[in-house]
Amino acid sequence: MDSLLPDKLQLEIVTPDRLLLREEVEELQIPGKNGYLGILPGHAPLITELQIGELSYRQDKTTHYLSVAWGYCEVLPDRVTVLAEIAERAEEIDVNRALAAKERAEKRLAGLQNPDLDFNRAMISLQRALVRLQVSQKRVGALQ
Ligand code: ATP
Repeated sequence: MDSLLPDKLQLEIVTPDRLLLREEVEELQIPGKNGYLGILPGHAPLITELQIGELSYRQDKTTHYLSVAWGYCEVLPDRVTVLAEIAERAEEIDVNRALAAKERAEKRLAGLQNPDLDFNRAMISLQRALVRLQVSQKRVGALQ
């Protein structure tokens, strides 16, 4: 055992429904509570909350993308565990569903004079739909 830094990270992404991913990766980027956080092997330990956003990780020359929303992430020098409330790989995203969710949210927000409108809820739906649409365009093999 030497004191060299690890050159890979064990990444595990879990949601309440499933183990979404367990892979060895070279680096990743997560939507942390205070903004996007880049993580390389050997990173100092930390725990952060996740917000709605794009999570990406690199394996070799390929970067993979997921849409995530809420939860926690634990970073250790050689492993990262993501406990996400909601997460989908880019390849799993149903674009029509996300487009419909975006339109619904936009319509609600357009009716701002409606006193029953839950503004935060509509904004969150819109944000989730926009992230899903953005991530779905980055699926492996997609023309960028
Ligand atoms: P919708 O309004 O379309 O139901 P939502 O944002 O309310 O979307 P969520 O509560 O975020 O849906 O997610 C519920 C479940 O459906 C989760 O398992 C999530 O991964 C999945 N999901 C939601 N939208 C999509 C999508 N566009 N493509 C694939 N899976 C989705």
